[in-house]
Amino acid sequence: MGITIGIDGPSGSGKSTVSKELARRHSLAYLDTGAMYRAATWWVLSQDVDLADEDAVVACVSAMPLMVPIDPDDQTIICDGIDITDTIRTPELSRVVSTVSSYYPVRDILIGMQRDIIDAEQSPDSFSHGRGIVAEGRDITTVVRPEADVRVLLTASEEARLARRARELVGTADAETIEKTRGIVSERDRQDSAVTKFMEASDGVFTIDSSTMSIDDVVDTITNLAGR
Ligand code: C5P
Repeated sequence: MGITIGIDGPSGSGKSTVSKELARRHSLAYLDTGAMYRAATWWVLSQDVDLADEDAVVACVSAMPLMVPIDPDDQTIICDGIDITDTIRTPELSRVVSTVSSYYPVRDILIGMQRDIIDAEQSPDSFSHGRGIVAEGRDITTVVRPEADVRVLLTASEEARLARRARELVGTADAETIEKTRGIVSERDRQDSAVTKFMEASDGVFTIDSSTMSIDDVVDTITNLAGR
């Protein structure tokens, strides 16, 4: 059996960098579930569906022709033949993802796809040759795969998260940029916490505070948890 490592955490906790590095180090597949919610949002907008109309959004997402990448070194994401890798990371799109991700029927559709991808990595014919997968998001350890072999909640202090997000968004982390980022990050936390209790670790989930740790230290810690 391949291994399943679930990593949850808020924006700026470092979970994408850590999860990709972990997958590379152990030749595992890598699943970014946040990218799926972002892609679904892009798809709905591209079809001129009103984001406030839940039924229309759900119908639209159920017909989404998405190709989900699982190679940690190639996260090109294609929807309906269009490369949306960069488009799904824009601030305009980031601002409205929470609306789409707050609809439970949308979550059911994406969670089903995520479980299928995780299960497929148990097969020798898969990308990881059956070695397994690192899946990251907000609800992997609680909803998508509570029975995962290793479950981690990656946290970081608010200041550390803001500095990372500021660097991601504009390339610098000076005081002014951090202040601008504060509003964006706290608003998204507020919206997301309505549906995903990502700030609390449930039973059996190992919490790692990455505020003062290097990426390598976090990857080493999770590697030890996985008994590798
Ligand atoms: O991780 P990332 O910041 O790319 O996620 C984008 C958005 O997707 C989150 O703000 C959240 O609304 C949603 N999301 C979710 N459940 C997940 C992953 C992401 O609701 N498992």
